[in-house]
Amino acid sequence: MSGLGQSRAVSLVGLTGHVVEVQAHLAASVPGFTLVGLPDAALSEARDRVRAAVSSSGLSWPQRKITVNLAPAALPKSGSGFDLAIAVAMLAGARLVDASRVRDVVHLGELGLDGRLHPVRGVLPAVAAAVAAGFPDVVVPAPDVPEAQLVPGARVTGAATLAELAARYGADLDPVAVPDDPVVRPVPPLREPGGDLADVLGQPEARAALEVAAAGGHHLLLVGAPGTGKTMLASRLPGILPDLDEAAAVEVTAVHSVAGTFDASRGLVRRPPFEDPHHTATPAAVVGGGSGVPRPGAASRAHRGVLFLDEAPEFGGRVLDTLRQPLEHGEIVVHRAGGTARFPARFQLVLAANPCPCGLAVGKGLDCTCTPLARRRYLARLSGPLLDRVDVQVEVHPVRAVDRGQVGESTAVVGRRVAQARAAAAERLRGTPWRLNAEVPGRWLRDRLGPGLLGDVDRALERGTLSLRGADRVVRLAWTLADLAGRPAPERGDVGRALALRVRGGHRA
Ligand SMILES: [Zn+2]
Repeated sequence: MSGLGQSRAVSLVGLTGHVVEVQAHLAASVPGFTLVGLPDAALSEARDRVRAAVSSSGLSWPQRKITVNLAPAALPKSGSGFDLAIAVAMLAGARLVDASRVRDVVHLGELGLDGRLHPVRGVLPAVAAAVAAGFPDVVVPAPDVPEAQLVPGARVTGAATLAELAARYGADLDPVAVPDDPVVRPVPPLREPGGDLADVLGQPEARAALEVAAAGGHHLLLVGAPGTGKTMLASRLPGILPDLDEAAAVEVTAVHSVAGTFDASRGLVRRPPFEDPHHTATPAAVVGGGSGVPRPGAASRAHRGVLFLDEAPEFGGRVLDTLRQPLEHGEIVVHRAGGTARFPARFQLVLAANPCPCGLAVGKGLDCTCTPLARRRYLARLSGPLLDRVDVQVEVHPVRAVDRGQVGESTAVVGRRVAQARAAAAERLRGTPWRLNAEVPGRWLRDRLGPGLLGDVDRALERGTLSLRGADRVVRLAWTLADLAGRPAPERGDVGRALALRVRGGHRA
Protein backbone atom coordinates (compact mmCIF):
# COMPACT_ATOMS: atom_id res chain seq x y z
CA MET A 1 0.00 0.00 0.00
CA SER A 2 1.38 3.43 -0.87
CA GLY A 3 0.41 6.77 0.67
CA LEU A 4 0.83 10.46 0.03
CA GLY A 5 1.07 13.14 2.65
CA GLN A 6 1.57 16.84 2.37
CA SER A 7 2.41 19.74 4.64
CA ARG A 8 3.95 23.17 4.19
CA ALA A 9 6.97 25.12 5.39
CA VAL A 10 8.63 28.43 4.59
CA SER A 11 12.04 28.92 3.04
CA LEU A 12 13.66 32.22 4.04
CA VAL A 13 16.10 33.96 1.74
CA GLY A 14 17.22 37.12 3.48
CA LEU A 15 13.95 38.53 4.79
CA THR A 16 11.92 37.09 1.92
CA GLY A 17 9.93 33.96 2.64
CA HIS A 18 8.54 31.47 0.12
CA VAL A 19 6.00 28.82 0.99
CA VAL A 20 7.40 25.36 0.30
CA GLU A 21 5.29 22.28 -0.33
CA VAL A 22 6.55 19.25 1.58
CA GLN A 23 5.31 16.01 -0.03
CA ALA A 24 5.87 12.58 1.45
CA HIS A 25 5.45 9.45 -0.60
CA LEU A 26 5.38 6.08 1.15
CA ALA A 27 5.73 2.95 -1.00
CA ALA A 28 5.63 -0.74 -0.15
CA SER A 29 9.24 -1.44 -1.02
CA VAL A 30 12.62 -1.76 0.68
CA PRO A 31 12.38 0.49 3.74
CA GLY A 32 14.34 3.71 3.44
CA PHE A 33 14.11 7.47 3.93
CA THR A 34 15.16 9.90 1.21
CA LEU A 35 14.91 13.69 1.11
CA VAL A 36 14.95 15.47 -2.24
CA GLY A 37 14.57 19.08 -3.35
CA LEU A 38 17.99 20.73 -3.15
CA PRO A 39 18.65 20.12 0.51
CA ASP A 40 21.80 21.59 2.00
CA ALA A 41 23.85 19.83 4.66
CA ALA A 42 21.52 20.90 7.47
CA LEU A 43 18.58 19.47 5.59
CA SER A 44 20.16 16.02 5.28
CA GLU A 45 20.66 16.07 9.02
CA ALA A 46 16.92 16.66 9.19
CA ARG A 47 16.48 13.03 8.15
CA ASP A 48 18.17 11.74 11.28
CA ARG A 49 16.40 14.22 13.54
CA VAL A 50 12.96 13.42 12.09
CA ARG A 51 13.50 9.67 12.41
CA ALA A 52 14.68 9.95 16.03
CA ALA A 53 11.94 12.41 16.98
CA VAL A 54 9.17 10.23 15.53
CA SER A 55 10.48 7.18 17.39
CA SER A 56 10.88 9.12 20.66
CA SER A 57 7.29 10.31 20.35
CA GLY A 58 5.83 6.83 20.65
CA LEU A 59 4.89 6.67 16.97
CA SER A 60 5.99 3.63 14.98
CA TRP A 61 8.34 4.41 12.11
CA PRO A 62 6.73 3.07 8.91
CA GLN A 63 8.68 0.18 7.41
CA ARG A 64 8.29 1.46 3.87
CA LYS A 65 10.24 3.33 1.24
CA ILE A 66 9.74 6.98 2.23
CA THR A 67 10.56 9.79 -0.17
CA VAL A 68 10.09 13.39 0.95
CA ASN A 69 10.23 16.12 -1.66
CA LEU A 70 10.48 19.84 -0.94
CA ALA A 71 9.02 21.81 -3.82
CA PRO A 72 9.76 23.93 -5.75
CA ALA A 73 13.16 22.30 -6.10
CA ALA A 74 14.79 25.44 -7.50
CA LEU A 75 14.20 27.41 -4.30
CA PRO A 76 17.24 27.60 -2.01
CA LYS A 77 16.49 25.97 1.31
CA SER A 78 18.59 26.35 4.40
CA GLY A 79 18.45 25.62 8.05
CA SER A 80 16.65 23.27 10.37
CA GLY A 81 13.19 24.87 10.26
CA PHE A 82 11.82 22.24 7.85
CA ASP A 83 12.00 19.33 10.36
CA LEU A 84 8.46 19.69 11.65
CA ALA A 85 6.84 19.98 8.20
CA ILE A 86 8.78 16.91 7.02
CA ALA A 87 7.71 14.85 10.04
CA VAL A 88 4.06 15.89 9.72
CA ALA A 89 3.94 15.17 5.96
CA MET A 90 5.47 11.75 6.59
CA LEU A 91 2.98 10.96 9.38
CA ALA A 92 0.15 12.05 7.07
CA GLY A 93 1.46 9.81 4.26
CA ALA A 94 1.56 6.89 6.69
CA ARG A 95 -2.00 7.74 7.77
CA LEU A 96 -0.77 8.06 11.35
CA VAL A 97 -2.38 11.53 11.45
CA ASP A 98 -5.37 12.98 9.60
CA ALA A 99 -3.87 14.00 6.24
CA SER A 100 -6.67 16.42 5.37
CA ARG A 101 -5.96 18.53 8.47
CA VAL A 102 -2.30 19.15 7.78
CA ARG A 103 -1.98 19.67 4.02
CA ASP A 104 -2.32 23.44 3.98
CA VAL A 105 -0.92 24.15 7.42
CA VAL A 106 2.52 25.79 7.56
CA HIS A 107 4.75 24.03 10.08
CA LEU A 108 7.91 25.73 11.35
CA GLY A 109 10.30 24.20 13.82
CA GLU A 110 13.39 22.15 14.43
CA LEU A 111 13.01 18.74 16.05
CA GLY A 112 15.16 17.54 18.90
CA LEU A 113 16.04 13.85 18.99
CA ASP A 114 13.68 13.54 21.98
CA GLY A 115 10.76 14.89 19.94
CA ARG A 116 10.72 18.36 21.46
CA LEU A 117 10.34 21.35 19.17
CA HIS A 118 13.19 23.83 19.11
CA PRO A 119 12.55 27.50 18.26
CA VAL A 120 13.86 28.81 14.96
CA ARG A 121 15.10 32.17 13.73
CA GLY A 122 13.03 34.30 11.35
CA VAL A 123 9.56 33.28 12.56
CA LEU A 124 8.14 36.77 11.96
CA PRO A 125 9.08 37.09 8.25
CA ALA A 126 8.28 33.40 7.67
CA VAL A 127 4.78 33.69 9.11
CA ALA A 128 4.23 36.96 7.26
CA ALA A 129 5.15 35.21 3.99
CA ALA A 130 2.78 32.33 4.77
CA VAL A 131 -0.13 34.68 5.45
CA ALA A 132 0.66 36.71 2.31
CA ALA A 133 0.66 33.51 0.24
CA GLY A 134 -2.78 32.57 1.54
CA PHE A 135 -1.77 30.09 4.25
CA PRO A 136 -2.78 31.72 7.53
CA ASP A 137 -2.70 28.51 9.62
CA VAL A 138 0.72 28.10 11.15
CA VAL A 139 2.17 25.81 13.78
CA VAL A 140 5.31 27.01 15.56
CA PRO A 141 7.35 25.81 18.57
CA ALA A 142 5.69 27.04 21.77
CA PRO A 143 8.37 29.66 22.56
CA ASP A 144 7.86 31.22 19.10
CA VAL A 145 4.12 31.80 19.52
CA PRO A 146 4.35 35.43 20.73
CA GLU A 147 6.51 36.31 17.71
CA ALA A 148 4.21 34.55 15.21
CA GLN A 149 1.22 36.31 16.74
CA LEU A 150 2.68 39.69 15.81
CA VAL A 151 1.71 38.97 12.19
CA PRO A 152 -1.79 40.30 11.44
CA GLY A 153 -4.09 37.61 10.06
CA ALA A 154 -2.05 34.63 11.23
CA ARG A 155 -3.87 31.79 13.02
CA VAL A 156 -1.11 30.53 15.29
CA THR A 157 -0.89 27.24 17.14
CA GLY A 158 2.04 26.41 19.37
CA ALA A 159 3.34 22.96 20.22
CA ALA A 160 6.03 21.83 22.65
CA THR A 161 6.56 18.36 21.22
CA LEU A 162 5.87 16.37 18.06
CA ALA A 163 3.76 13.94 20.12
CA GLU A 164 1.55 16.75 21.38
CA LEU A 165 0.97 17.97 17.84
CA ALA A 166 0.45 14.46 16.39
CA ALA A 167 -2.15 13.72 19.08
CA ARG A 168 -3.96 16.91 18.11
CA TYR A 169 -3.96 15.69 14.50
CA GLY A 170 -5.59 12.41 15.54
CA ALA A 171 -2.57 10.15 16.16
CA ASP A 172 -3.22 7.10 18.31
CA LEU A 173 -0.18 7.36 20.54
CA ASP A 174 1.42 4.63 22.60
CA PRO A 175 1.50 5.75 26.21
CA VAL A 176 5.20 6.52 26.51
CA ALA A 177 7.01 9.05 28.53
CA VAL A 178 7.30 12.05 26.25
CA PRO A 179 8.91 15.23 27.56
CA ASP A 180 6.29 17.93 27.62
CA ASP A 181 8.36 20.78 28.98
CA PRO A 182 9.02 23.12 26.06
CA VAL A 183 12.52 24.01 25.02
CA VAL A 184 13.22 27.48 26.36
CA ARG A 185 14.19 30.05 23.81
CA PRO A 186 17.30 32.01 24.79
CA VAL A 187 16.27 35.61 25.40
CA PRO A 188 18.64 38.04 23.72
CA PRO A 189 20.21 40.47 26.15
CA LEU A 190 18.22 43.65 26.54
CA ARG A 191 20.08 46.52 24.90
CA GLU A 192 19.63 49.44 27.22
CA PRO A 193 18.90 52.71 25.51
CA GLY A 194 21.98 54.86 25.65
CA GLY A 195 21.04 57.09 28.56
CA ASP A 196 19.91 60.70 28.51
CA LEU A 197 21.59 63.54 26.68
CA ALA A 198 21.37 65.55 29.89
CA ASP A 199 24.17 63.30 31.23
CA VAL A 200 26.59 64.86 28.73
CA LEU A 201 28.23 67.78 30.48
CA GLY A 202 29.45 70.75 28.46
CA GLN A 203 30.42 69.80 24.88
CA PRO A 204 28.18 72.43 23.23
CA GLU A 205 29.73 71.94 19.75
CA ALA A 206 29.50 68.15 19.86
CA ARG A 207 25.94 68.25 21.16
CA ALA A 208 24.97 70.61 18.35
CA ALA A 209 26.60 68.29 15.82
CA LEU A 210 24.66 65.33 17.22
CA GLU A 211 21.38 67.23 16.96
CA VAL A 212 22.09 68.32 13.38
CA ALA A 213 23.04 64.76 12.43
CA ALA A 214 19.77 63.48 13.92
CA ALA A 215 17.64 66.16 12.27
CA GLY A 216 19.04 65.74 8.77
CA GLY A 217 19.95 62.04 8.87
CA HIS A 218 23.60 63.00 8.34
CA HIS A 219 26.44 60.60 8.99
CA LEU A 220 28.79 61.85 11.67
CA LEU A 221 32.50 61.70 12.47
CA LEU A 222 33.65 62.55 15.98
CA VAL A 223 37.37 63.17 16.32
CA GLY A 224 38.85 63.55 19.76
CA ALA A 225 41.37 62.33 22.26
CA PRO A 226 40.53 59.19 24.25
CA GLY A 227 38.22 59.89 27.18
CA THR A 228 36.51 62.95 25.73
CA GLY A 229 33.10 61.25 25.68
CA LYS A 230 32.74 60.28 22.01
CA THR A 231 31.06 56.98 22.87
CA MET A 232 28.76 58.65 25.37
CA LEU A 233 27.64 61.11 22.69
CA ALA A 234 27.16 58.48 19.98
CA SER A 235 25.09 56.20 22.21
CA ARG A 236 22.66 59.07 22.79
CA LEU A 237 21.89 59.56 19.10
CA PRO A 238 19.15 56.88 18.84
CA GLY A 239 17.35 58.52 21.77
CA ILE A 240 16.82 61.78 19.90
CA LEU A 241 15.62 60.06 16.71
CA PRO A 242 11.85 59.73 16.22
CA ASP A 243 9.96 56.43 16.65
CA LEU A 244 9.97 54.09 13.66
CA ASP A 245 6.83 54.20 11.53
CA GLU A 246 4.81 50.98 11.17
CA ALA A 247 6.50 49.78 7.96
CA ALA A 248 9.98 50.43 9.36
CA ALA A 249 9.08 48.74 12.66
CA VAL A 250 7.98 45.56 10.84
CA GLU A 251 11.13 45.57 8.71
CA VAL A 252 13.51 46.18 11.63
CA THR A 253 11.76 43.51 13.69
CA ALA A 254 12.10 41.01 10.82
CA VAL A 255 15.85 41.69 10.63
CA HIS A 256 16.24 41.06 14.36
CA SER A 257 14.01 37.98 14.13
CA VAL A 258 16.33 36.43 11.54
CA ALA A 259 19.37 37.59 13.52
CA GLY A 260 18.04 35.94 16.67
CA THR A 261 18.27 39.23 18.57
CA PHE A 262 14.56 39.88 18.97
CA ASP A 263 12.49 39.40 22.11
CA ALA A 264 8.84 39.11 21.05
CA SER A 265 7.59 39.75 24.58
CA ARG A 266 8.43 43.40 23.99
CA GLY A 267 6.43 43.59 20.72
CA LEU A 268 7.61 45.08 17.45
CA VAL A 269 10.86 47.04 17.56
CA ARG A 270 9.64 50.63 17.51
CA ARG A 271 12.78 52.52 18.48
CA PRO A 272 15.82 53.01 16.23
CA PRO A 273 18.36 50.30 17.05
CA PHE A 274 21.97 50.97 18.05
CA GLU A 275 24.77 48.64 16.99
CA ASP A 276 28.41 49.08 17.96
CA PRO A 277 30.58 46.27 16.57
CA HIS A 278 34.11 46.05 17.99
CA HIS A 279 37.00 47.03 15.71
CA THR A 280 38.16 43.41 15.63
CA ALA A 281 34.85 42.37 14.00
CA THR A 282 35.07 40.34 10.78
CA PRO A 283 33.42 41.48 7.55
CA ALA A 284 30.81 38.72 8.04
CA ALA A 285 29.99 39.98 11.53
CA VAL A 286 29.45 43.48 10.19
CA VAL A 287 27.60 42.78 6.94
CA GLY A 288 26.18 39.31 7.61
CA GLY A 289 26.59 35.72 6.49
CA GLY A 290 27.25 32.44 8.27
CA SER A 291 26.18 28.89 7.49
CA GLY A 292 22.59 27.72 7.17
CA VAL A 293 20.09 30.59 7.13
CA PRO A 294 22.39 33.62 6.65
CA ARG A 295 22.36 35.98 9.62
CA PRO A 296 22.16 39.73 9.21
CA GLY A 297 25.30 41.49 10.46
CA ALA A 298 25.61 44.58 12.64
CA ALA A 299 25.03 46.89 9.67
CA SER A 300 21.61 45.30 9.05
CA ARG A 301 20.75 45.10 12.72
CA ALA A 302 21.34 48.87 12.70
CA HIS A 303 18.75 49.29 9.91
CA ARG A 304 16.72 52.49 10.55
CA GLY A 305 18.98 53.16 13.52
CA VAL A 306 22.61 53.92 14.27
CA LEU A 307 25.76 52.00 13.36
CA PHE A 308 28.58 53.20 15.61
CA LEU A 309 32.18 52.39 14.81
CA ASP A 310 34.32 53.39 17.78
CA GLU A 311 38.03 53.74 16.99
CA ALA A 312 36.99 53.54 13.35
CA PRO A 313 40.53 53.69 11.86
CA GLU A 314 41.31 50.47 13.77
CA PHE A 315 38.70 48.50 11.79
CA GLY A 316 40.05 46.26 9.06
CA GLY A 317 40.20 47.79 5.60
CA ARG A 318 37.94 45.04 4.26
CA VAL A 319 35.31 45.76 6.90
CA LEU A 320 35.31 49.47 6.07
CA ASP A 321 35.12 48.62 2.36
CA THR A 322 32.11 46.37 2.84
CA LEU A 323 30.19 49.34 4.26
CA ARG A 324 30.21 51.08 0.88
CA GLN A 325 27.44 48.90 -0.48
CA PRO A 326 24.90 49.62 2.28
CA LEU A 327 25.87 53.31 2.35
CA GLU A 328 25.15 53.56 -1.37
CA HIS A 329 22.19 51.22 -1.73
CA GLY A 330 20.67 50.86 1.73
CA GLU A 331 20.94 47.08 1.61
CA ILE A 332 23.43 44.26 1.88
CA VAL A 333 23.55 41.39 -0.58
CA VAL A 334 24.95 38.13 0.80
CA HIS A 335 25.93 35.71 -1.95
CA ARG A 336 25.43 32.03 -1.17
CA ALA A 337 25.88 28.81 -3.09
CA GLY A 338 22.10 28.39 -3.01
CA GLY A 339 21.27 31.95 -4.05
CA THR A 340 21.41 35.53 -2.91
CA ALA A 341 20.07 36.90 0.35
CA ARG A 342 19.27 40.58 0.72
CA PHE A 343 19.08 42.40 4.02
CA PRO A 344 18.04 46.02 4.41
CA ALA A 345 20.79 48.21 5.91
CA ARG A 346 19.82 51.87 5.86
CA PHE A 347 21.56 53.16 8.96
CA GLN A 348 23.02 56.37 10.24
CA LEU A 349 26.77 55.95 10.50
CA VAL A 350 28.67 57.42 13.44
CA LEU A 351 32.44 57.12 13.32
CA ALA A 352 34.61 57.96 16.29
CA ALA A 353 38.34 58.34 15.91
CA ASN A 354 41.36 59.50 17.76
CA PRO A 355 43.01 62.30 15.81
CA CYS A 356 46.23 60.33 15.44
CA PRO A 357 47.81 57.12 16.79
CA CYS A 358 48.85 58.81 20.07
CA GLY A 359 45.47 60.53 20.36
CA LEU A 360 46.78 64.01 21.21
CA ALA A 361 46.75 65.82 17.84
CA VAL A 362 43.73 67.98 18.67
CA GLY A 363 43.60 71.76 18.43
CA LYS A 364 47.15 72.93 17.78
CA GLY A 365 48.36 69.41 18.47
CA LEU A 366 51.41 70.52 20.50
CA ASP A 367 51.44 67.38 22.68
CA CYS A 368 51.23 64.93 19.79
CA THR A 369 54.27 62.68 19.47
CA CYS A 370 53.35 61.16 16.10
CA THR A 371 55.24 61.89 12.92
CA PRO A 372 53.37 64.01 10.36
CA LEU A 373 53.23 60.96 8.09
CA ALA A 374 51.71 58.73 10.79
CA ARG A 375 49.14 61.45 11.54
CA ARG A 376 48.10 61.74 7.90
CA ARG A 377 47.92 58.01 7.41
CA TYR A 378 45.80 57.44 10.48
CA LEU A 379 42.60 59.19 9.46
CA ALA A 380 43.34 58.43 5.81
CA ARG A 381 42.31 54.85 6.61
CA LEU A 382 38.77 56.20 6.68
CA SER A 383 39.14 58.39 3.69
CA GLY A 384 37.69 58.14 0.24
CA PRO A 385 34.29 56.57 -0.29
CA LEU A 386 33.48 56.25 3.40
CA LEU A 387 34.37 59.73 4.58
CA ASP A 388 32.83 61.20 1.43
CA ARG A 389 29.45 60.29 2.82
CA VAL A 390 29.96 61.79 6.26
CA ASP A 391 28.37 65.24 6.30
CA VAL A 392 29.27 66.27 9.84
CA GLN A 393 32.83 66.13 11.14
CA VAL A 394 33.57 67.64 14.52
CA GLU A 395 36.32 67.69 17.07
CA VAL A 396 35.35 66.64 20.55
CA HIS A 397 37.37 68.36 23.25
CA PRO A 398 37.86 67.47 26.90
CA VAL A 399 35.16 68.99 29.08
CA ARG A 400 36.39 72.30 30.40
CA ALA A 401 36.30 72.76 34.18
CA VAL A 402 33.80 75.63 33.84
CA ASP A 403 31.39 73.33 31.98
CA ARG A 404 31.40 70.52 34.50
CA GLY A 405 28.48 71.82 36.50
CA GLN A 406 26.53 72.74 33.39
CA VAL A 407 23.59 70.44 32.63
CA GLY A 408 22.59 70.43 28.98
CA GLU A 409 19.19 69.87 27.45
CA SER A 410 17.58 66.46 27.86
CA THR A 411 16.96 63.83 25.21
CA ALA A 412 13.24 64.67 25.29
CA VAL A 413 13.78 68.38 24.57
CA VAL A 414 16.30 67.83 21.77
CA GLY A 415 14.23 64.95 20.36
CA ARG A 416 11.21 67.26 19.97
CA ARG A 417 13.30 69.75 17.97
CA VAL A 418 14.67 66.93 15.80
CA ALA A 419 11.14 65.66 15.09
CA GLN A 420 9.99 69.17 14.07
CA ALA A 421 13.00 69.65 11.80
CA ARG A 422 12.43 66.28 10.17
CA ALA A 423 8.79 67.12 9.59
CA ALA A 424 9.78 70.43 7.95
CA ALA A 425 12.26 68.68 5.64
CA ALA A 426 9.74 65.97 4.74
CA GLU A 427 7.19 68.67 3.88
CA ARG A 428 9.67 70.50 1.63
CA LEU A 429 10.73 67.20 -0.01
CA ARG A 430 7.17 66.03 -0.63
CA GLY A 431 6.88 64.55 -4.12
CA THR A 432 10.61 63.69 -4.24
CA PRO A 433 12.18 60.30 -3.44
CA TRP A 434 13.89 61.86 -0.38
CA ARG A 435 12.76 62.43 3.18
CA LEU A 436 15.94 63.69 4.86
CA ASN A 437 18.39 66.39 3.82
CA ALA A 438 21.26 63.89 3.92
CA GLU A 439 19.65 61.98 1.04
CA VAL A 440 19.27 64.97 -1.27
CA PRO A 441 21.87 65.79 -3.94
CA GLY A 442 23.64 69.06 -3.06
CA ARG A 443 22.71 70.57 -6.40
CA TRP A 444 18.97 70.29 -5.74
CA LEU A 445 19.29 72.10 -2.42
CA ARG A 446 21.74 74.70 -3.78
CA ASP A 447 19.29 75.69 -6.51
CA ARG A 448 16.75 76.50 -3.83
CA LEU A 449 19.04 78.77 -1.82
CA GLY A 450 18.58 82.53 -1.75
CA PRO A 451 21.10 84.58 -3.75
CA GLY A 452 24.48 85.58 -2.34
CA LEU A 453 24.50 83.08 0.52
CA LEU A 454 27.45 81.03 -0.58
CA GLY A 455 30.18 83.69 -0.47
CA ASP A 456 32.05 82.01 2.39
CA VAL A 457 31.72 78.62 0.72
CA ASP A 458 33.12 80.00 -2.56
CA ARG A 459 36.05 81.56 -0.72
CA ALA A 460 36.78 78.26 1.05
CA LEU A 461 36.68 76.53 -2.33
CA GLU A 462 39.15 79.07 -3.75
CA ARG A 463 41.47 78.72 -0.76
CA GLY A 464 41.32 74.96 -1.20
CA THR A 465 40.06 74.31 2.35
CA LEU A 466 36.84 72.87 0.91
CA SER A 467 36.28 70.39 -1.90
CA LEU A 468 33.32 70.50 -4.29
CA ARG A 469 31.74 67.54 -2.53
CA GLY A 470 32.44 69.30 0.75
CA ALA A 471 30.57 72.34 -0.54
CA ASP A 472 27.53 70.15 -1.25
CA ARG A 473 27.64 68.86 2.28
CA VAL A 474 27.78 72.40 3.66
CA VAL A 475 24.62 73.21 1.69
CA ARG A 476 22.83 70.14 3.03
CA LEU A 477 23.82 71.02 6.59
CA ALA A 478 22.70 74.64 6.12
CA TRP A 479 19.23 73.38 5.24
CA THR A 480 19.14 71.14 8.29
CA LEU A 481 20.20 74.06 10.51
CA ALA A 482 17.39 76.15 9.01
CA ASP A 483 14.91 73.30 9.61
CA LEU A 484 16.02 73.09 13.24
CA ALA A 485 15.60 76.84 13.69
CA GLY A 486 12.17 76.79 12.06
CA ARG A 487 13.29 78.99 9.15
CA PRO A 488 11.83 78.32 5.69
CA ALA A 489 15.29 78.52 4.07
CA PRO A 490 18.90 78.94 5.23
CA GLU A 491 20.28 82.36 6.04
CA ARG A 492 23.89 83.46 5.90
CA GLY A 493 24.45 82.45 9.52
CA ASP A 494 23.24 78.90 8.78
CA VAL A 495 25.81 78.60 6.02
CA GLY A 496 28.55 79.82 8.37
CA ARG A 497 27.55 77.35 11.06
CA ALA A 498 27.36 74.57 8.45
CA LEU A 499 30.94 75.37 7.39
CA ALA A 500 32.06 75.08 10.99
CA LEU A 501 30.42 71.62 11.25
CA ARG A 502 32.47 70.48 8.28
CA VAL A 503 35.91 71.85 8.85
CA ARG A 504 37.84 70.14 11.61
CA GLY A 505 40.74 72.27 12.82
CA GLY A 506 42.46 73.01 9.54
CA HIS A 507 41.68 69.73 7.78
CA ARG A 508 40.50 69.91 4.22
CA ALA A 509 36.87 68.88 4.26
ZN1 LIG B 1 49.71 61.86 17.82
